Amino acid sequence: MIHNPHNLSQLLKSTAKRYGFKSCGISKSGALDKDARQLEEYLKKDFHGQMHYMANHFEKRTDTTKLVEGSRSVISLLYNYYPASPIDTLDNLKISKYAYGQDYHEIIKGILREMVEELTGVVGDFSCRIFVDSAPVLERAWARESGLGWVGKNANLITRDQGSFFFLAEIITDLEIAPDGPIKDYCGTCRRCIEACPTQAIVEDKVVDGSKCISYATIELKDELPESFRGKMEEWMFGCDICQDVCPWNRFSKPHSQVLFEPSKKLTMLKKEDWKELTQEVFSEIFRKSPVKRTKFAGLKRNIEFITKNDIL
Ligand code: SF4
Ligand code: SF4
Repeated sequence: MIHNPHNLSQLLKSTAKRYGFKSCGISKSGALDKDARQLEEYLKKDFHGQMHYMANHFEKRTDTTKLVEGSRSVISLLYNYYPASPIDTLDNLKISKYAYGQDYHEIIKGILREMVEELTGVVGDFSCRIFVDSAPVLERAWARESGLGWVGKNANLITRDQGSFFFLAEIITDLEIAPDGPIKDYCGTCRRCIEACPTQAIVEDKVVDGSKCISYATIELKDELPESFRGKMEEWMFGCDICQDVCPWNRFSKPHSQVLFEPSKKLTMLKKEDWKELTQEVFSEIFRKSPVKRTKFAGLKRNIEFITKNDIL
């Protein structure tokens, strides 16, 4: 059995690598006071738009010992989703790269469950909960605390060696593991993401006004798309990658090796004209297991009609 906090850290990192995670970092479980104040401000300014869930469970969201009682460590993990060949956008509408393949929630949770089972065999019984974008956890803040990267001006977690196209996941556990520390912010004087955002949604360093963001509008918003987005969508029908695509650190992105994140042949073949004729049947066929099903057929259709009617015709 391994109980030494430093040995546990090494074990976790080598195990996470074997399970396909790009990196793994450790923090001490507890309250993130500064991030809690920032979240309060964010909510006060209504930057969360209709993402009302962000205001729920405030205490648990900002203190992992309240979310997982008895927890001592937060293990943050990054899983690469950068595709080997982005879908051609020349005669096409755009979809965020994270949504090319099957829904990451279940895939990554499945990997984490197997990893925890293996670790139990080595360190003995321990208690933990796993999270993949699924509960009130300040994922980026924890990844930052554990030194996996820094939070860029575009509010994404950025790594020096491979940029920002990663899913974030956490294991919150009662194991006592030696913590890593944060690294410095390498954005420097760069402002490319702020300048490239077509809706000026990056309102200050590391703060995206969700209610102005194309990603929020095309995925989370339940109503009609606001007129303020007219002419600014740049053909994004689900999500938006602009502030990541322009980030110089993403020149270092490397293709993932998760076959379940590959887009289906049909998805890569549809063209602008086909999207305009999208039917419920085709939607269900292409997006049955995809994160795109979050918008439902009606939501994607709304987005397509909004951008094709006024932006490109
Ligand atoms: S995702 Fe798109 S709209 Fe949102 S902040 Fe980034 S560039 Fe702007
Ligand atoms: S584009 Fe520049 S400012 Fe924006 S996140 Fe990347 S490095 Fe930071």
